[in-house]
Amino acid sequence: MAVARIMLVEDDLELRTVVRRALEEEGFAVSGVGTGAEAMERVAAQPPDALVIDVGLPDTDGRDLCQALRAQGIQSPVLFLTARDALTDRLAGFGAGGDDYLTKPFALAELTARLRAVLTRAGVDGTVNAAGLKLDPTNLEASREGHSVRLTPTEFRLLAALAAQAERTVTRRELVRSAWPDGAVVHDNTIDVYLARLRRKLRELPGSPAINTVHGVGYRLQ
Ligand code: CA
Repeated sequence: MAVARIMLVEDDLELRTVVRRALEEEGFAVSGVGTGAEAMERVAAQPPDALVIDVGLPDTDGRDLCQALRAQGIQSPVLFLTARDALTDRLAGFGAGGDDYLTKPFALAELTARLRAVLTRAGVDGTVNAAGLKLDPTNLEASREGHSVRLTPTEFRLLAALAAQAERTVTRRELVRSAWPDGAVVHDNTIDVYLARLRRKLRELPGSPAINTVHGVGYRLQ
């Protein structure tokens, strides 16, 4: 499953850590840097699917960084973070080639929603088709025949693990490895609760494959 790769350019280490964790929980792969110079270096090595750039960086203005990236041919969408909300600043952000703007302090849910929107607009949603379902890791949606359901990040990872091996039995251990962080202690009844919710959501999709229990072994999407 192709997850969207986000580069977070923010010199406030505490904010960077909080935002990074929140985005990772939402299913994004995040790399964080604290300066414009580091961002230029990393982006040149591997352009991310989107960037979140603080306007007030120690070595440069985030908007200048954005312009420098655009000059290098990097077209990944950019979401600016700024401490200021003046209209002229906003306009300068768009003029610098940014795609959206968020004023500090912001709610993490707002950042995630805006990021998903710019990724979708840029056509980098990483959607894949598997087991008769369309799985969109950016918007955490499963859809089929024009109907879609919104999943939590954990539900999405569970479904992706089952869909990647459709028609085959996936063990509980494999599901835990795919859907939870390394080393997480996940009780059987926790998995049952998640699978029950996922089954309910899949039933909202006409003709969707179902998650069948293979007693004593695991689960199978078919
Ligand atoms: Ca800053």
